[in-house]
Amino acid sequence: MNAPSVPRVAVVGAGIAGLAAARAVREARPDVEVVVLDAADRVGGKLRLAEVGGVTLDVGAESMLNRRPEAVALARSAGLADRIVHPATIAATVWSRGALHRLPRSLLGVPAGPRVVADAAVLSRAGRARALLDTVLPPYRPEEDVSIGDLVERRCGAEVVDRLVEPLLGGVYAGHAREISAGAAAPQLVAKLREHGRLLRAASAAVSPPDDSTPVFAGLAGGVGQLPAAVARNLDVRTGTTVRALERIEGGRWRLVTGPVPAPEVVEADAVVVAVPAAPSARLLRDVAPAASTDLDAIEYASMAVVTTAFRRTDFPGVAGSGFLVPPVDGRRIKASTFAFRKWGWVDAASEELVLVRTSIGRHREEAALQVPDEELVAASVADLGAAVGLRAAPVDHHVQRWGGGLPQYAVGHPDRVRRIRASVAEVPGLAVCGAAYDGLGIPACIASGQRAAREVLDRLPTTTPSPAHERMDP
Ligand SMILES: Cc1cc2nc3c(=O)[nH]c(=O)nc-3n(C[C@H](O)[C@H](O)[C@H](O)COP(=O)(O)OP(=O)(O)OC[C@H]3O[C@@H](n4cnc5c(N)ncnc54)[C@H](O)[C@@H]3O)c2cc1C
Repeated sequence: MNAPSVPRVAVVGAGIAGLAAARAVREARPDVEVVVLDAADRVGGKLRLAEVGGVTLDVGAESMLNRRPEAVALARSAGLADRIVHPATIAATVWSRGALHRLPRSLLGVPAGPRVVADAAVLSRAGRARALLDTVLPPYRPEEDVSIGDLVERRCGAEVVDRLVEPLLGGVYAGHAREISAGAAAPQLVAKLREHGRLLRAASAAVSPPDDSTPVFAGLAGGVGQLPAAVARNLDVRTGTTVRALERIEGGRWRLVTGPVPAPEVVEADAVVVAVPAAPSARLLRDVAPAASTDLDAIEYASMAVVTTAFRRTDFPGVAGSGFLVPPVDGRRIKASTFAFRKWGWVDAASEELVLVRTSIGRHREEAALQVPDEELVAASVADLGAAVGLRAAPVDHHVQRWGGGLPQYAVGHPDRVRRIRASVAEVPGLAVCGAAYDGLGIPACIASGQRAAREVLDRLPTTTPSPAHERMDP
């Protein structure tokens, strides 16, 4: 008879969602064995550090929403409390029609009230007048999901979409306003609109009051890219391990097939958390949760590149704020730029001679813009940056980080799709999913989804099971 042994949970994917899930399982049930498997040679997924001009900084995600608790709480519990910092400035501008304009107070680009519209220099006089029609049009309470672009255009006109919503959405999703679901991207706005019937009023009610002194964002001195390794400490994480198949075996247990096709290896577990993007999730779930797999297959991703450049401090013109966003309608190559040295005190202090700036390029279905050598992306980035801020010098160092399939697109109907995926997965005992594909792609949302997945598998985990094995399998 097999001696009873500890139950095992396998987590597929060591991005921040998978790591948060693994840690939550460990914290709730120290008796449970947890193994995390990741295809890459490092943990962290979209959180990543690189050195540019002698300064190590983020070349993936770089800030965490502070008005949700999950990310800062995880950083604290991973021993990084003393590195939590807040941006020196978050005042962003919009580079529109050749000039930098202050970004009006808004929710995802929707101005927070009629007064904000009246002061929005980024809009033309006609654009402002059209936006204000929202206050006199018959109230509108959407019943079905609709794209954020269509919603805003209907109430406030196309200019607000093109000059404000598109640049904001480009930054968050690398997506297109007229395709992204309002219900998924701005649920608070939709909820308030259903209440008030008027969009500007809804945006005003949904944004935090101007006197709320809680910093909106947090970061880590040294980069949020440090978070994954800190969370992974003391966890059994196996990098360079692609999970190719997921099979249910006798006793309701799981077999995960990894390793090269000619010499596969298996990891057995009592429960599995799938914490990878939609396409690999769809492949893994094809046989075990076919309905979820079909819905996951339909979630598209945008590719993008982050170009980080280091300039001599003396060459860089005086700039205000944390950076600027770019409306795609203006036909520029870059979609946003972050003055990392202005936004983060630790980046500024990291080099006496150099300032670090990042730009991002690439939107959903515009992969062709990225299919060029790194040098061309750097040249495009420097040219646009130069035109925006009056920079004439060349960078002394650069780094290009490509994020192929980096950001999921929450198309219209996404909230229903996620409900269907969750219902299909819930029918399979010992299986849970989490990550950016579902209820929010920001770091705190991904952490929350990982913690939820941990609860879901723990609820049905046995207290003791027959001994699992880490074996080789014949091909
Ligand atoms: C350029 C960029 C900037 C961003 N900026 C911010 C920001 O400032 N703030 C913010 O809150 N959010 C930001 N985001 C979004 C956020 O970083 C991501 O949505 C989030 O990190 C995704 O975490 P995840 O764990 O769901 O997935 P991922 O980070 O994608 O991790 C998934 C992991 O699964 C692994 N994997 C895939 N397939 C397999 C397989 N078959 N077997 C084993 N492993 C597999 C991958 O190697 C990867 O490590 C940004 C995203 C990008 C791309």
